[in-house]
Amino acid sequence: MMSVTFHGVRGSTPCHCDDTRHFGGNTSCVSLHAEGEVPIIFDLGTGLRYFGKRVNGTAKFHAVCLLTHLHYDHTMGLPFFEPLLRADTTFEIYAPKQPDGRSVKELFLEKIKPPMFPIPLEQFAASLVFHEVGDDDFTVGNMQVRSRYVPHVGPTLGFRVSHAGTTVTYLSDHQQPAGDEFSLADGARDLCEEADLLIHDAQFTAAEFEQKASWGHSTYAYAQWVAETCRVKRLALFHHDPSRTDASLDMIAKDVAAAASVDVFAAREGETVDVVTCSA
Ligand SMILES: [Zn+2]
Ligand SMILES: [Zn+2]
Repeated sequence: MMSVTFHGVRGSTPCHCDDTRHFGGNTSCVSLHAEGEVPIIFDLGTGLRYFGKRVNGTAKFHAVCLLTHLHYDHTMGLPFFEPLLRADTTFEIYAPKQPDGRSVKELFLEKIKPPMFPIPLEQFAASLVFHEVGDDDFTVGNMQVRSRYVPHVGPTLGFRVSHAGTTVTYLSDHQQPAGDEFSLADGARDLCEEADLLIHDAQFTAAEFEQKASWGHSTYAYAQWVAETCRVKRLALFHHDPSRTDASLDMIAKDVAAAASVDVFAAREGETVDVVTCSA
């Protein structure tokens, strides 16, 4: 059986305050655990620091990150990941190939160094291994991973991970098509079809989307439509807008759950969800 734990559920920027305390204020980071396999971490937002605290001190720590894209809200947790301070840590990062040919490793080395960060990334003791992927199918241990480019702002991947008949899809930042007609790019459909759990961008209300239709994100209604169209079993609303309060998020999640033909919940920081197979 697989389980996922949400360490950061926000988009754009961390937002810790009284009225976001319940759902949490850290940016995108979700860990996936399958029995006997290395942990998979979706994205490196500020939630990564809290995952790091859980596993810090583990001898010969080995984990695999599936990184959707390089925006700050998905990468700014990396230098605060405590296992990187240990020489017996191996951290593999699968990240999207860049169209300009620049390597992802080079881009991280450029970003994490003085004067933007006190220590250059190459001075961290851990082994960091980068793999660049696009529309690919590969394995991590006994887990099958599918990566596909999806519409967002800049090169962005979504991921589908299957293990022992159970499937989790992570589609964090996903541009909803402009206009009233919903549609789905082939790559995104490849990821979502009949997943047991779909973690999907749900940043905007319909009114917000009208103002921010080109910002690279989705509405709750679109996330629901994708889940229903692809016959997923469970939908986690994710990448919450930093301005969304606990009260409004609660209300929206209830409304979507009442209207949807699939099981729906709003992802909450600190929560662990068991992933049950569709055929169970
Ligand atoms: Zn984002
Ligand atoms: Zn983004």
